[in-house]
Amino acid sequence: MTRLLTDTDGEPVAIENAAAKGDIVLVCEHASRRVPERLGSLGLSQQALESHIAWDPGALAVAELLSRKLDAALIYQRFSRLAYDCNRPPEAEGAMPVVSEVYEVPGNRDMAGDERQARVDEIYLPFHDAISRFVTERKDNGRPPVVVTMHSFTPIYFGKPRSVEVGILHDADSRLADQMLTFATRGKVAYDIRRNEPYGPADGVTHSLIEYGVHNGLANVMIEIRNDLIRNEIGQRVMADYLEGLLSKGVAALSAQ
Ligand SMILES: [Zn+2]
Repeated sequence: MTRLLTDTDGEPVAIENAAAKGDIVLVCEHASRRVPERLGSLGLSQQALESHIAWDPGALAVAELLSRKLDAALIYQRFSRLAYDCNRPPEAEGAMPVVSEVYEVPGNRDMAGDERQARVDEIYLPFHDAISRFVTERKDNGRPPVVVTMHSFTPIYFGKPRSVEVGILHDADSRLADQMLTFATRGKVAYDIRRNEPYGPADGVTHSLIEYGVHNGLANVMIEIRNDLIRNEIGQRVMADYLEGLLSKGVAALSAQ
């Protein structure tokens, strides 16, 4: 059997604030750009390994601030999405991408079946199971959580600048997204904030929402932040303050229904 992770790699999943009292569970699938040591550089340059193709820059920092502000549990992946993209099911092409935006990923080309399986077994499944366990426990305790996944996106994609600043994404269950968009577009509008942009369900990005939210009947939303807005601590704090307001109002409006 091919093993992927070593002792120095450590665990694939991290959970912070597990005993939180708040309604929300935050999920960050693309928190890290760390590559398991056995995969080396995946054949990529240092620049590519530090870029948005490896992770969602700033997303974990904002998620950690939100975890404290909202007293929300936070579950995140400790390895790069280039090793395994935890927002994709094992059968998806993008789970272990051979090409990501303009970069080819040589280390993901022509992988043997047991190499693929090791990545599924050691990265995806532990992450999936940790969230499923958390959700089930909270439901059993009469405190069904609201699932919020945190992401960031690149301001320039395939050479084209993007003007959307914050995306509020949903799949079949739009309850929370609807509420958040209502509050976001009322009065003074802080950001260029849009529904299902720059990605949507057709791009295959709602796997976690469906798996942990929709299948459990839980309200859920995916938040995509343009990464130039959360490049430094000040930007991260400003964004976390804004999202704290939007999420609190959105969740409160849902429970008032
Ligand atoms: Zn992401």
